[in-house]
Amino acid sequence: MSKRRSLRLLGAFLLCVEPSHTKPSSCSSTGVASQFPHTLPMPQSKVSLTSAGVFLTQLPDRDLAELRAMVVDTVTTYLESFPPLKPQWRPVVEHSARYTLFDESIVFSSRADLVIGTAGRKVLIDLKTGQLTSTHRDDLRFYALVETLRSRQAPRSLASFSLDAARIDVEEVSEGLLRAALRRTIDGVRIMADLVTERREPTRRAGFQCRWCPVNESCDEGQRFLTRATGDDD
Ligand code: SF4
Repeated sequence: MSKRRSLRLLGAFLLCVEPSHTKPSSCSSTGVASQFPHTLPMPQSKVSLTSAGVFLTQLPDRDLAELRAMVVDTVTTYLESFPPLKPQWRPVVEHSARYTLFDESIVFSSRADLVIGTAGRKVLIDLKTGQLTSTHRDDLRFYALVETLRSRQAPRSLASFSLDAARIDVEEVSEGLLRAALRRTIDGVRIMADLVTERREPTRRAGFQCRWCPVNESCDEGQRFLTRATGDDD
């Protein structure tokens, strides 16, 4: 089984289980089909997929079996490697936070896989199926910033947990960390504003995000990166 192909399959599935208000456009049946041109026929209508159930019923048997195996493997790895959650830790899965500026012209939103603890003492945890990278720390630092802006109480710490390696990367939240996250966020907002107003030419930077990119099939940079990162074992 190709790990790269399985990850893309899982990615497409996860896009379709997003709540409808945050569902990216790539969850339309056309968008999903473009990621699996060999397996999903392009639908005649423009009707969008509205649930994971629709996505699953359209999957050919081979893809469904592949997805099932990957989900079972991921859940089993989680159960074997992550400590059991106690109710008193107040665990919340898929914890969303949102902070807006300038009458919702700028929206910062985050979604941590798992949050334990109460306000001011929260630990934000992201579960990763691949290897841990520095971008995971950046993601969590941004989540900490959004949580702090939203609740006016900083979380206590951040953790990325690698299911493959059963390894955890923990970082305490400090004022310096939040300042660094704020600077990085302001830089990102400026870049996005420059792109929208066409004061800056867009460039492509391949990275692990290419796994989930809806246009990776047609992107040479993304294809080269994915082939290097995972090996083309199709
Ligand atoms: S596949 Fe291409 S467009 Fe998509 S994130 Fe990667 S480099 Fe960017």
